[in-house]
Amino acid sequence: MLTRFCLFLFGAIALSAAPPAKQPNIVFIFSDDHAYQAISAYGDSRKLIQTPNIDRIAKEGMRFDRALVTNSICGPCRAVILTGKYSHLNGFYNNTNSVFNGAQTTFPKLLRAAGYQTALIGKWHLNSDPQGFDYWQILQGQGIYYNPPMKTAQGVIKTTGYVTDITTDASMNWVKARDKSKPFMLMCQQKAPHREWSPNLSDLGWDKGRVYPEPATLFDDYKDRAFSVGDQDMTLEKTISQLDMKLVHPPGITPEQAKVWDTYYNPINEAYRKADLKGRDLVKWRYQRYMHDYLGCVKSVDDNVGRMLKFLEDEGLMENTIIVYSSDQGFYLGEHGWFDKRWIFEESVRTPLLVRWPGVTPPGSVNKSLVANVDLAQTFLDMAGVAAPADMQGRSLRPLLAGQVPADWRKEFYYHYYEYPEPHRVSPHYGVITDRYKLVRYYGIGHDAVDLFDNEKDPLELKSFAGQADYADIQADLEIRLKRLRAELKVPEVDDPDATGQRTHRERQAKAAKNAAKKKTEAK
Ligand code: CA
Repeated sequence: MLTRFCLFLFGAIALSAAPPAKQPNIVFIFSDDHAYQAISAYGDSRKLIQTPNIDRIAKEGMRFDRALVTNSICGPCRAVILTGKYSHLNGFYNNTNSVFNGAQTTFPKLLRAAGYQTALIGKWHLNSDPQGFDYWQILQGQGIYYNPPMKTAQGVIKTTGYVTDITTDASMNWVKARDKSKPFMLMCQQKAPHREWSPNLSDLGWDKGRVYPEPATLFDDYKDRAFSVGDQDMTLEKTISQLDMKLVHPPGITPEQAKVWDTYYNPINEAYRKADLKGRDLVKWRYQRYMHDYLGCVKSVDDNVGRMLKFLEDEGLMENTIIVYSSDQGFYLGEHGWFDKRWIFEESVRTPLLVRWPGVTPPGSVNKSLVANVDLAQTFLDMAGVAAPADMQGRSLRPLLAGQVPADWRKEFYYHYYEYPEPHRVSPHYGVITDRYKLVRYYGIGHDAVDLFDNEKDPLELKSFAGQADYADIQADLEIRLKRLRAELKVPEVDDPDATGQRTHRERQAKAAKNAAKKKTEAK
């Protein structure tokens, strides 16, 4: 009894002697479709843009060079980050017909229960209202670039100006007005640089008509790989729209704003129409137009990261705030002739990830381990000292951030994409990724095939080595790893009927056929 009392007393003294560790604040700055090729800290050979403010996070923290996503499109990536689970467990497979079940456990809910104030501001795109936040203010669906209406728990609010500035302003206002006695976790989620890549009007012409270097694979012929790779509908040649190319006004723009827009785009569009470009010349023109606008959006994201960093400095928050910069997935900047994402290939499966954690992360450090968006929920919980539920499927990056890669860190990663056929006809596929190889199985109807990529021999991913005799052992080993990962991650053998979005596709087709028939009857 006495011993127990002594232990209790000792425990009480020990507890009172050590002041409670101050839980760090977390600021998660998350953009949409921001390719690592468009962040100067990643050192792309094309040197597309300088991003000094985003680079500062890398300089003062850690750059992850192999941060992957589990299913490379917007909504699914967001659901993975919130839940720490793959699409087949969190239920959000695609942007076509998935609705996020907000009743499930998410890291913001757990942080909030542990005393954090939580907010999500900007792009959400999960088709149900956010849960687990003290405050939320979200774009409607994809959102628009100019004067975007935003939804809050109290209703829809009007805004005036450019979406990236508005999202940052609202984020800073929330931080300012918070209860300063509690730690906070802010998700500042930019729409930019998502399609249709409309820059801030004050940035039009910012790059002074620079001619951007083309990627080596701009005119990919899609040979030496499965049929699926060539069958997609996401090329600069065939898929890009009038809106993307700024041949029509963007949504939401006011007449006054349209005057500024016209002053910049009208002479360019006039010259374009006069030139009447065809074939490769047309693709080259589109690539340049795309880069001017996409990178213009990135410039504003970087400027706003700068504003956020300055704000945190002015508020005296830099020392006890972890700053994370990432994007929902990677993006094609003309590689393989593409824009968009979706594929297991490098430009879309890899996403930027930069973390500044003072006192933990060595400044200017680089990590090349296979890490993923599915690790973020557990990482954020670990940062706050909150236990993660056992059914989350990632792993905390905390040891890596401290400069230590555990010996048993993952050596292979599972990828699974579903959405088909709309909007870009990318076949559903899954696969395994190691530091050197990728084994991909395409399984859309008529697409059944396997590709094997070797990034040492073929870094641009232009050739499949599947079925070749000198790759037989490697392929067999990758098959075993793939099977093991699918079992470990509880991937069902047969897709959920809503996974690929084909049910919605069929419904749309039926509706279109019905409308066409009605029109025909009316015309008679
Ligand atoms: Ca996205």
